[in-house]
Amino acid sequence: MSYIGRFAPSPSGPLHFGSLVAALGSYFQAKAKNGKWLVRIEDLDPPREMPGASELILKTLEAYQLHWDGDVVYQSQRHDLYQSQIDTWLKSGQAYYCQCTRKQIKDSGGFYTGTCRDRHLSDSGNNAIRLKMTAPVYQFDDQKHGLLEIPASLADEDFIIKRRDGLYAYNLAVVLDDIEQGVTEVVRGADLIEPTGRQISLYKMLSKQPVSYLHLPLALGDNGQKLSKQNHAPAIDNSNPKPALLDAMRFLGFEIAKDIEQLDISEIIAWGVKTWQLQQLPDSTEITPRFSNSSL
Ligand code: GLU
Repeated sequence: MSYIGRFAPSPSGPLHFGSLVAALGSYFQAKAKNGKWLVRIEDLDPPREMPGASELILKTLEAYQLHWDGDVVYQSQRHDLYQSQIDTWLKSGQAYYCQCTRKQIKDSGGFYTGTCRDRHLSDSGNNAIRLKMTAPVYQFDDQKHGLLEIPASLADEDFIIKRRDGLYAYNLAVVLDDIEQGVTEVVRGADLIEPTGRQISLYKMLSKQPVSYLHLPLALGDNGQKLSKQNHAPAIDNSNPKPALLDAMRFLGFEIAKDIEQLDISEIIAWGVKTWQLQQLPDSTEITPRFSNSSL
């Protein structure tokens, strides 16, 4: 089977160092296997989006010579795919409406325990839709980290597939898209280890073969927090990509000699594809990067 990987940024802001690491890791893994590398813009949550971020992200990928295969896919244009699966599950009784508020769930211990499962509520226009969890996943095999455990309380939960505000849930959209796009392996940051169990549950409930997973170390800021668009991690430089590129590649375990540093961006990327191997990745899931070239 031929390899298909992807990079799936949410356009909540420009790419920062952490998202560059995810883009590069998924790119090297795909291209080292002679595979395809797709880009999917995960614009599912308009209130959290920054106007212009999608275009900016694509420009940044181009500046770093990360060229995707095929057309960019936008989740905002795929609501029919998500809704039709939800309708199928509502019809079969696998999904149901739920009127519990976040506060009610918090007050009853933090986990949803199936309060509305058998209440046969209808669509009030203000109800979430949950999936009856009949295929919980308590552990999965990660290409780098081996067997990773998922807490049972999380794995067993009837999680939300469509929110009460009408937005489609991330887990559902990601899995339906990865299936529809033929993705064979998901390479992304270690912050997404936890939802992976739910995503594998979805594959099982859809009777599909799950993808394989590789979680890359997460870049932390000086404050020990994950670098993220939400906490305003600085954008990486489009006009002078080399410093951030070299730092991000070192973060991914490349040893870069002086002569490689002298090459131009596309040559450095090609060298990365040629030399990339999984063993070079650091073992830990969270790392505070050292920036040698003031790339931030
Ligand atoms: N859109 C998600 C993010 O930007 C990534 C989803 C994924 O790779 O599965 O954090």
